[in-house]
Amino acid sequence: MDQLTWLERATDAMLLPTVVFQNVQAIDESVAILSTVISRLEGLRIRLLRERGGVDRSVLSAGLGLSRGEAAQVEKAVDRLAALPALQAAVESGEVSMSKVRMVAETVTKPRSEAAVRDEARLTALASSLSPAQLGRELERWGRTVDDEAGVATDEALRARRSLDSRKKYTGMTEFIGQLDPESADIVNTALDARTKADWQNEPASEHHLRTSTQRRVDALVGICTDALNGVGSSDASPKIRPHVSVVVDLATLRDATGSAVTERGTFITAEAARRMCCDAGISRILTNAVSQIVDVGREERTFSHALRKVLVLRDGGCRMSGCNAPPSWTQGHHIKHWINGGLTNHANGCLLCSRHHHACHEGGWTITGDPNGELVFTNPTGQRLSSWPSGISIRMAAAA
Ligand SMILES: [Zn+2]
Ligand SMILES: [Zn+2]
Repeated sequence: MDQLTWLERATDAMLLPTVVFQNVQAIDESVAILSTVISRLEGLRIRLLRERGGVDRSVLSAGLGLSRGEAAQVEKAVDRLAALPALQAAVESGEVSMSKVRMVAETVTKPRSEAAVRDEARLTALASSLSPAQLGRELERWGRTVDDEAGVATDEALRARRSLDSRKKYTGMTEFIGQLDPESADIVNTALDARTKADWQNEPASEHHLRTSTQRRVDALVGICTDALNGVGSSDASPKIRPHVSVVVDLATLRDATGSAVTERGTFITAEAARRMCCDAGISRILTNAVSQIVDVGREERTFSHALRKVLVLRDGGCRMSGCNAPPSWTQGHHIKHWINGGLTNHANGCLLCSRHHHACHEGGWTITGDPNGELVFTNPTGQRLSSWPSGISIRMAAAA
């Protein structure tokens, strides 16, 4: 206990504002020493947690303020280092960093634990002498050899460890955490690459700079999942009409585009997002009045029917935004004048927009004027106007049809 008191006092002294570092070299040296000290103390924490008989990640998370991911890593290290005393000693002496210990702990799965005990001296030497990148390659090689010896196919062992989880973060974003075995990863990446490439080719060149490559991969994933929900990909290019997400929204919120709404999964969305989601049939909507009484549940005539969609597909040929070549299967129906504001659900008030341009025309501040059967004018938030004509067959019918 005395040493801990001393350690705390020494830390206090280090953190005094009077402790100043004269130059970059002094800072670099201090950072290196601090990193080693932090890593050694982490090693000590691992040992103490093990001596108390192990620890549950939820206790770690609540008691030590660790995130779920960090707690899982500590729990794993506590468990795996129990059988690897030389590696434990190496992290405590500062010879091996805690980051490299985590890499070893990740590699030493339960079925490989006996081999790890046998090879401990080698694993410790590798961890102490190699860079993290080199160590990663050596650990992969070691794992494959051990699996071979045990008559386990590494691919199967890896496949058994596949996982995917998602959780809502306090920032409002949802984090997906997971790992895929090589074959699954290849399939997913090939599909994402293909979708991303097609998306790039369909997009107006003037918009290429608007999204990062990682944003494009999210859009590709969402597009593939939307296709799956729509039943696209078999014989029919036009999505089946099927509710995917329910949104509960106050009538006035939807009409005036102010305030917020909530999806059935409990996600808060803006009024304009609710207007977009209620614009086409992929969403079932529950409208409430000011005292939260349900006044309307997804009335069919406000959604684009299969027949009407076919007409729009024939006329627009895909996304109607000027310069966008997104195919029909990527599009949603859009009411040029929203039905909540009295717009009709017909070909004279409807057009097809890809998901991204549907966002642009609701939340993105673009406006659409004109006649979808003839010239439509898209005006961006800076006032630039883009003209769009039907690329498919032309429709000359009474607007009220
Ligand atoms: Zn819309
Ligand atoms: Zn588009």
